[in-house]
Amino acid sequence: MLGVLPLRLFGSEEAKARWLGRLTTGGLAAFALTEPQGGSDIGGLETSAVRDGDDYVLTGEKALIASIHHADLIIVAARTRPEGGSMGLSVFLVDPELPGVHVHDRREATMGMRGTDIGSVSFSEVRIPSTAILGRENLGMMVLHKGLVGDRVATATIALGIAEAAQAHAVRYAKSRMQGGEPISRHQAVRNLIADMEVRIAASRLLIEAAAEKLSSGKDATEAASVAKLHASEAANAVAKDAVQIFGGWGYLRNYPVERLMRDAKHTEIVDGTSQIQRLLIADSVLRRIR
Ligand SMILES: Cc1cc2nc3c(=O)[nH]c(=O)nc-3n(C[C@H](O)[C@H](O)[C@H](O)COP(=O)(O)OP(=O)(O)OC[C@H]3O[C@@H](n4cnc5c(N)ncnc54)[C@H](O)[C@@H]3O)c2cc1C
Repeated sequence: MLGVLPLRLFGSEEAKARWLGRLTTGGLAAFALTEPQGGSDIGGLETSAVRDGDDYVLTGEKALIASIHHADLIIVAARTRPEGGSMGLSVFLVDPELPGVHVHDRREATMGMRGTDIGSVSFSEVRIPSTAILGRENLGMMVLHKGLVGDRVATATIALGIAEAAQAHAVRYAKSRMQGGEPISRHQAVRNLIADMEVRIAASRLLIEAAAEKLSSGKDATEAASVAKLHASEAANAVAKDAVQIFGGWGYLRNYPVERLMRDAKHTEIVDGTSQIQRLLIADSVLRRIR
């Protein structure tokens, strides 16, 4: 989502012809926003792109970038106006083969989500043609915003999948695990955990459907995407934690999938804006909406 969506919405016909086919037939795009000194404060990012004739010269470093080691294309957010905070940013399509692009070999050792590599990339005076810009110069925040809103709904669905899987494992285990001559699923305290899981999951599903409906019908999905992402990610963490609890001591071992789901769930509270940032966005939106 983060790679393809901005390209589809803001790319020139030439850029779409060059990249979209590749990215929808197994190619990968990395989306490089976060920097070593910060990810939440987008307006404070330091990677710069300075205009020089028909080119921009890109310099800086990005960290914690998913799929960077396999990327066919890197979408990079950079500062094109030294002052101006978030209104001085632009987004560029960068070919990883260009001179000066250096993807660091190191793959970060992550708590969960180990099916995806994350790592760093640096740009050392990389010359990129001015046609490689997505949208307009200094208005990159619009491109980032659209990409992040779409991706928040995608992350919420990942969280929902994690929660559903954790619940399914926990319920099957609760029905088969015998204590005191009966399955633990007969104990009220265990049933309460299962009921709470269901409420959290059902609410996540409805919120995701509401946000996805707004996205696909072209309405402003900013608030709905943040609400869905915040709820679904916190629900996934709560459900996965309770699933481990239902497995008792066995849940703490690597033998069963629930400890992995608990580790995987954590990333959904961090990526695409942390839970704290989602709360700020939701509060801003509500304060504007209710007069
Ligand atoms: C598995 C994984 C994959 C990722 N993939 C990508 C990717 O593909 N591309 C990419 O660009 N980035 C990616 N990231 C990075 C991720 O987006 C950032 O980690 C995230 O945005 C937070 O930035 P940070 O780590 O710099 O934390 P910081 O911004 O340093 O925040 C640290 C803490 O302070 C809080 N905080 C910060 N500012 C505020 C504020 N104003 N108000 C209240 N609390 C605040 C945060 O909520 C957090 O709890 C990935 C991260 C992970 C773990």
